Amino acid sequence: MHIKDILNSNDPTFSFEFFPPKSAEAADKLYNVIRDLESYKPSFVSVTYGAGGSTRELTHDLVVKIKETTEIPPIPHLTCVAHSEDEINITLERYASVGISNILTLRGDPPSSASNYDRSGDAFYHAADLVRHVKKFNHSGSHPDKRGFGIGVAAFPEGHPDTPNRLLEMDYLKSKVDEGADYICTQLFFDNHDFFDFRDRCSLAGINIPIIAGIMPITSTSGIKRMAELAAGTHFPAKLLRSLNRAGDKRESVKRVGIQHAAEQCAGLLDGGVDGIHFYTLNQSRATREVYASLGLT
Ligand SMILES: Cc1cc2nc3c(=O)[nH]c(=O)nc-3n(C[C@H](O)[C@H](O)[C@H](O)COP(=O)(O)OP(=O)(O)OC[C@H]3O[C@@H](n4cnc5c(N)ncnc54)[C@H](O)[C@@H]3O)c2cc1C
Repeated sequence: MHIKDILNSNDPTFSFEFFPPKSAEAADKLYNVIRDLESYKPSFVSVTYGAGGSTRELTHDLVVKIKETTEIPPIPHLTCVAHSEDEINITLERYASVGISNILTLRGDPPSSASNYDRSGDAFYHAADLVRHVKKFNHSGSHPDKRGFGIGVAAFPEGHPDTPNRLLEMDYLKSKVDEGADYICTQLFFDNHDFFDFRDRCSLAGINIPIIAGIMPITSTSGIKRMAELAAGTHFPAKLLRSLNRAGDKRESVKRVGIQHAAEQCAGLLDGGVDGIHFYTLNQSRATREVYASLGLT
């Protein structure tokens, strides 16, 4: 289903993100998680794409499996880094041929193993270039839906580290929208003020497409450090840190704090009229299930 139809029929949307597992055992486990979460009737699920195409086949295979064996529309992520135009076209053609309706278009980051990666050979430099290319693909009539792929883009309520000038950053986000993005999905954040302020700034910049909020419940103390790396620059409110300090190294208590905080965030977002909530699940279902329950959604 095209993202425009999904957004029109789900107000707000609820969606989940998964990453493609690397072993058969992890793939089986993830598939059980997906079946478990299917009963929540998510509006869509998305599947990440490894830096430089490192999960190209795994992402493709998981997306196709979800499409063929569940009722949930899967949205593959696709990144520019380390890809030629031909490689991107092959990916788009494969997805179009099996009726995948939407793509989340991203720049991506160079593989961590290649510290001085030279991007001069990449066909697309910024995500906006990839949005433009997918739009061109859409006009070629190669997709079974005459509108072609629905297109999502990323945004960073607290700012992206490469662009400290936040006014300029908003211009760059606007360029992705002007190239034809249909929706925005945000980086995770822990303070709703950051999201609402970002949403207001988008509105002032003339960005009027739906903005889906990315939420990641904290599930472990080690996970927090990883999150801080992934979402470089995100701020952890003192209230949350105080609760985590009280939980200390008690794993179950840390989980409870993380789930409680995410549930409060989601309730605030829903009260504030958010267009959608996207859960970064880390391929697990418990936190999402419990947040759903506390929101009265089950
Ligand atoms: C929802 C979401 C999903 C993600 N999924 C994945 C994934 O599956 N795989 C993966 O590898 N990564 C993923 N990422 C991470 C993302 O690829 C990185 O954060 C990347 O650094 C930025 O991607 P982008 O699409 O926002 O890039 P862009 O929109 O290209 O922006 C990147 C930086 O360049 C700046 N910029 C943009 N246009 C210009 C311009 N014309 N001139 C100068 N500067 C410019 C921007 O302000 C920003 O600082 C995801 C991020 C989010 C929020």
